[in-house]
Amino acid sequence: METAMIASIDKRVYMNTFGERFPIAFTHGKDSTLYDKEGVAYTDFLAGIAVNALGYGHPKVTAAITEQAQKLLHCSNYFYIEQQALLAEMLTHLSCFDRAFFCNTGAEANEGAIKLARKHFYDKGEDRYEIIACDNSFHGRTIATVAATGQEKYKKPYAPLLPSGIKNVPYGDASALKSALSPKTAAVLIECIQGEGGVIDGSDYLAKVRALCDENGCLMIVDEVQTGIGRTGTLFAYEQYGFESDILTLAKALGGGVPIGAILAKEACCAFAPGDHGTTFGGNPLACAAGLAVLSEISREAFLESVRKKGEYFKAELERLQAQFPQKILEVRGRGLMLGMELAPEIKNSDVQKELLKQGFIIGVAGHNTLRFIPPLIIREEQIDALVGVLTNYFRKA
Ligand SMILES: *Cc1c(COP(=O)(O)O)cnc(C)c1O
Repeated sequence: METAMIASIDKRVYMNTFGERFPIAFTHGKDSTLYDKEGVAYTDFLAGIAVNALGYGHPKVTAAITEQAQKLLHCSNYFYIEQQALLAEMLTHLSCFDRAFFCNTGAEANEGAIKLARKHFYDKGEDRYEIIACDNSFHGRTIATVAATGQEKYKKPYAPLLPSGIKNVPYGDASALKSALSPKTAAVLIECIQGEGGVIDGSDYLAKVRALCDENGCLMIVDEVQTGIGRTGTLFAYEQYGFESDILTLAKALGGGVPIGAILAKEACCAFAPGDHGTTFGGNPLACAAGLAVLSEISREAFLESVRKKGEYFKAELERLQAQFPQKILEVRGRGLMLGMELAPEIKNSDVQKELLKQGFIIGVAGHNTLRFIPPLIIREEQIDALVGVLTNYFRKA
C-alpha cells in the first residue's frame, strides 16, 4: 500500500493525538538505518523515542524474540515464568534494587511506583499520600502520571478527574522542594535528565533531593524510563550522580522495541502484597525474553564504554557547532547518547527537524526549543559525522 493511501485511511479512522504526521511509512530497518515504502534510507537519531537502543534487526534480539514466539507468547501471571524470573534477577543484580515488577509502559511503571509509595506508608499507618514531581517533567499519559507531569498542556483538559495529592515544584530548585515537602509527602518523583522537557540535566540537584527525602522521611522515585538501559553511558543514569533512590522505573529501551516496563524497588519499600497490584500482560515470556537479550548486550562494560566514548565525541562535535554559530545555538546539554541542543527562538526546532528529514536524518525535538538526539546506542561515529555535517550546512544558511 502506498504511503498516501495509508495516510488517507489514518485521517479517516485513527484518533489523531499526534498532530500532523511525517508523510513517511517505514517498512524495515537495519542497525541505525530505517527504510520507507519508497525505498528511501534514513539515519535514525530518534530510535523510536529512545526505544530501539540496539537499532533494527539486531541478531540477538531478533533471535530471542523469534525463538520465544515459537514456544510461548503469554501464559498469565498465575504461573511461574522463567524469563520473568531471570530478567528480575538480572535487573536487581545490575542495580542497587532488590525486587522488580513488570508492566508494559513507562506510564504504567510510574503509576505502579506511585501506588507502591502510597501503600508503603499505608502499611506503616502513616498518613502520607502526597507525590511531589517537577515542573517541565514528563511521567506519562495515564490519569495519575499526567497529574505528576509538570506541563499544564497535558493535564488541563482532564483536571476534574486528577487524583489529589500530587503537586509540582521547579526542577533544580532544592529550596523550593524543601518548602513543598511535608509530613503528608509519600514520595518525590523525578527524572535524572528531563527528556521531553528539553534534555535538562539534574546534576547536583539529584543528590540534594535524596538528602531532602531522607530528612523528610519520604521515598524517592527516579523515573529512568528514558535515561535507563545504557542511554547516558551507564546502565542506569543514577549511577553517575552519587545517590540511590528507593524506587526506579524503566520502560522504553528495556525491550528493544517490544513493550515492557519495570518497577525496581529496595526491599524496605516493597509494600505490594498479593492482590495489591497486578497486570495481565506485564512480564510475559515474549517481552521478558526481549528484555534479557537487550540487557545482556547493553550491560556489557565494553558496550557501555562505547556509549560513553561516542557520547563524548558527539557532544564535543555539537559544542564545536555551537562555538561556530553562537547566535543560533544557545546550549548543548546531556550525557551519553542523550543529547540536546537548544536553539535561539528565531529558529524553530521543528523546522530543523523537517529539513533534516528531507536530507535523510531523523532527529527528535523536545521542550525549550531543543533538538534531541537519542540514536540507537549502536550508532557509528561516521553517522554522527554525517549528521553534524548536515547540521553545519543548515546553520550556515539559517
Ligand atoms: C516516555 C516517558 C514516559 C512514558 O512512557 P510511556 O511508555 O509512553 O508510557 C515516562 N517517563 C519518562 C521520563 C519518559 O521519557
